[in-house]
Amino acid sequence: MKPRNKFQKQVVAANRKLPRITDAQIKWAYKNCIEHIGQKTAKGLITCLECNHQWTDTREKEHCICPNCKTKLRVVETRKRSFLDYEYLCIVTTCETFQVLRFVYVECKMKKGEAPRYFNMEVVQRWIAPNGKYVTMAKLRPMGFFRQDWNWSSDLEIRPERSLYNIHPTEVYPRQKLIPEVQRSGYNKQFFDLTPFDVFSFLIGNSKAETLLKTGQTELFRYFAYHSKRDMNDYWASIRICLRNGYIIKNISEWTDYIDLLRFFGKDLHNAKYICPKNLKAEHDKYVQKKREVYRQQHKEEQRKRALEKEKLFHEMKSRFFGIEFTDGLIHIRVLESVDEIMKEGDIMHHCVFTNNYHLKPDSLILSAYTEDKRLETIELSLSELKVLQCRGLCNENTEYHDRILKLVNQNIPLIRKQLAA
Ligand SMILES: [Zn+2]
Repeated sequence: MKPRNKFQKQVVAANRKLPRITDAQIKWAYKNCIEHIGQKTAKGLITCLECNHQWTDTREKEHCICPNCKTKLRVVETRKRSFLDYEYLCIVTTCETFQVLRFVYVECKMKKGEAPRYFNMEVVQRWIAPNGKYVTMAKLRPMGFFRQDWNWSSDLEIRPERSLYNIHPTEVYPRQKLIPEVQRSGYNKQFFDLTPFDVFSFLIGNSKAETLLKTGQTELFRYFAYHSKRDMNDYWASIRICLRNGYIIKNISEWTDYIDLLRFFGKDLHNAKYICPKNLKAEHDKYVQKKREVYRQQHKEEQRKRALEKEKLFHEMKSRFFGIEFTDGLIHIRVLESVDEIMKEGDIMHHCVFTNNYHLKPDSLILSAYTEDKRLETIELSLSELKVLQCRGLCNENTEYHDRILKLVNQNIPLIRKQLAA
């Protein structure tokens, strides 16, 4: 890809001044990145695939040192005679004002009885400017699973940003050159399982990263370097409270989640009482519960709103029965005459007469049985069969008046039949 803007042109120009990878660096990579093999037979004869020296050692050992060439070997008991290993070395250097990360592919083909064949090629460079802007120069890499190889003959040139260039190297070359912005950032050659690019781009592009590193908040550093899309600014005010109180956050995702919950409930995000809980998990879980309750409530409200919108429909369907009521002197029974009334009945009786929308079924008529001082049961009547479908009291339990209520309804079925015919 040709450089398209000023920044990319600047990088391409600087790249020409970059020195070649030295023989010493490559030698170091061959020694430290490649896994050298000591092939062992069932009888304990070990062959160093680096120098082909052979000796016998029957002890069970995962690693050993070749007595001849002093290479550290992984002992593999196998009849296999050839091995391949490929790894990446990262070289941290500078060029003009840029911090540059250079990634070298190193490969070793080992075969018993033959000299090992080594190969290396620089495949990726990440260029990071002091303001945090970056650009990637790389060789082409064919897509597909299980493809470790690169298009060796392609040029190292500007490439669109892709995650496959964010290489996790086997080793980082110990001698590093740093731009002043990194030197004063507190960088101490630690990577916290992050890729070098994630560490450097975070450190250079964000002054807050420096604060996290210097105050020992490595978990926060790791989290925000990795989740570069999650905006640290959303949490920064609260993070500063933690720093001031010496509060070390151990479970970051739980903590950020917890801060989001506090924000949702309008809590003071500058108050250590909330921000630095002794038992993070307990507080977190408490607010999760609370939020669930809010959602439940909201859901209920929405249901109510929708139900009230059905008022007109309900009226059209059932108004011919409105006004029907009867009593045996103690128990009164009447037709419920609005969605609102039915909702209230459901709320007070804690049953599902409203939530299940019985009142909107064409075949259902909902009545309420009560005495002078309390509600007794709610009745669902089938209009086609003119019989009680269900009759339930508080929390769906029957009351002591249950049978009496049924009897009273059945006695007054003619009132309803009359309205049906009207
Ligand atoms: Zn050897």
